Amino acid sequence: MPDRLPDALHEKLSRRLNYYEDIGIRLFYRDRVIARDAEEFERAPVTIPISQEEPLPKISPKPIVPQAPSVAATPSQKVTILPPAPKVSLFDAASKVADDSLLKIREDYGECTRCKLHSTRNKIVFGDGNPKAKLVFVGEGPGRDEDAQGLPFVGRAGKLLTQMIEAMGLQRSDVYICNVVKCRPPENRLPEPDEIKTCSPFLLRQLDVIDPKVIVCLGACSAQTLLETNRGISHFRGQWLDFRGRKLMATYHPAYLLRNPAAKADVWKDLQKVMAVLGLQVKKGKPAGAEKPS
Ligand code: SF4
Repeated sequence: MPDRLPDALHEKLSRRLNYYEDIGIRLFYRDRVIARDAEEFERAPVTIPISQEEPLPKISPKPIVPQAPSVAATPSQKVTILPPAPKVSLFDAASKVADDSLLKIREDYGECTRCKLHSTRNKIVFGDGNPKAKLVFVGEGPGRDEDAQGLPFVGRAGKLLTQMIEAMGLQRSDVYICNVVKCRPPENRLPEPDEIKTCSPFLLRQLDVIDPKVIVCLGACSAQTLLETNRGISHFRGQWLDFRGRKLMATYHPAYLLRNPAAKADVWKDLQKVMAVLGLQVKKGKPAGAEKPS
């Protein structure tokens, strides 16, 4: 083996390792293949650590309504049904639209002034990605960069989300990314209930049109909106939940991960569950977090 890797290979390997470090993976080991030269080294697989399947934690001490999951699930992909939504559902206003499409939904928004967020926004951030995506990420609302560009998750948190998506073996163009509210809340505050109530029926239409296999909620606002619950995300993060017959996984928002890098390992475990359901290749190895991220 040469003393030093060629520069191009060194750079490529550094970029790949930076990806994994950013999502909280620090421990790597190579399969027992002795690479004889740099070319062979490049071909040798890097094994991504993955946690062994763990029993799902109980969602809360409160009783779960005994109801069969509406999505076919193997024992390791159990779907938890949260208690029923309030009598008047947030989504009652989302009447079915015949031959609905993302274009039609965007046209229906128009230059929307339905809630007070319109007065401070620059651009409506409708959503972006594959209109037939099997995987949709839903965040809470646009930030400054998104408001300026009219695209979701393009700031620092967005770059981290892109790294997470690529670590799953996907590209951003493979998935769809959107938010609960389409206009930036001032000073990046949380969207308020009346704003969520006004905007989220359009989100429901987006999800119905795209018809993904899996929805990943990024952060509490998104998860609480779709699940119509006030429970903290820590009660159900990382569990399979049901959203109108689709599988939903709630995990932490990338902005939270920028402030709390130690939580990246938890998010990676959640995304590995998503990968398994989507049939994306997951290599088994040592448990993630065997070496805690600093
Ligand atoms: S947040 Fe939604 S409902 Fe409110 S103004 Fe923007 S697009 Fe309209």
